[in-house]
Amino acid sequence: MESNILIIYTGGTIGMIQDPNTGALTPFNIEALYQHIPALQNFNCRIDSYCFEPLIDSSNMNPPFWIKLARVIEENYEKYDGFVILHGTDTMAHTASMLSFMLENLNKPVVFTGAQLPMGMVRTDGRENFINAIEIASARIDDTPVVPEVTICFENQLMRGNRTNKFNAENFNAFLSGNYPLLAQMGVHIKYNTEYIFKPNFKKLKVHFNLDPNIAILKLFPGITENVVRSIINIPGLKALILETYGAGNAPTDAWFLKTLHEGIVSGITIFNVTQCKGGSVEMGKYETSVELSSIGVVGGYDITTESAVAKMMYLLGEGYSGKELTRMLQTPLRGELTVS
Ligand code: ASP
Repeated sequence: MESNILIIYTGGTIGMIQDPNTGALTPFNIEALYQHIPALQNFNCRIDSYCFEPLIDSSNMNPPFWIKLARVIEENYEKYDGFVILHGTDTMAHTASMLSFMLENLNKPVVFTGAQLPMGMVRTDGRENFINAIEIASARIDDTPVVPEVTICFENQLMRGNRTNKFNAENFNAFLSGNYPLLAQMGVHIKYNTEYIFKPNFKKLKVHFNLDPNIAILKLFPGITENVVRSIINIPGLKALILETYGAGNAPTDAWFLKTLHEGIVSGITIFNVTQCKGGSVEMGKYETSVELSSIGVVGGYDITTESAVAKMMYLLGEGYSGKELTRMLQTPLRGELTVS
């Protein structure tokens, strides 16, 4: 049976051309994408498109845009079997993470893709990424979608969106899913790793539009000063801090550092411990350098990515969670974003 797919074009390199005057890359409209992939006509699916106006470089992504994107999916959810979102690579992992939280009970594929080289270029990776994404979004067995979750399809790999980060600005292989297996690999055939893919729950889609951006990220580095940590903790209105720690969740044991974080926690700020490493998990208490974090009330983030931690925090704060309930939700896998070790 023919699938109906909606392509949602947000911007990014995939659809860019060079401005003849400045030499800078600027976006062009979706018709030009089709010119570059005449093969789209041969697909056994009906493809419609929705184009954001204006198109954006994904460095300009923000919560209002996420809300618009989620609304487009909600409004078109019943009409289509799957969605392909063309998005810049820079913040694709953030948007994929965020949509995974906003779209509760998602039972259809939402496949993000983009390119490192514009579609207009001979060596573009965009054509292959785009075609793979459409194939995955339309894949069904017995009328049930094969991948009913938010994913990123890039360079012959399909990854759970909220497990990814962009780790390479040069290679076509730009995304990493350091803590979760690939959902599919594209070779001569698309090989789905079905045991790692969500099964549909057949419940009604519920879209969450309230996002609270009153959060900050603090990445630790040797030499970080009290001034810096204190300034962040004292940001007016700050509700949560994502603390990017070393290795398995370790941080300095200096008294001023722990005291400042503790003051923040006492004043109601939730501190979420995620690792700077691209693979592996926070294990608070494993080393002496994380025992104290645990005892002052820092919340361990297990193997969640920073991108996913940001999205989850904005989502949960937007839903009104705070205190112990927020901690509980942060440490509970909601969309397959973390593994409790
Ligand atoms: N700056 C671009 C963006 O993220 C890069 C890309 O599309 O890959 O929108």
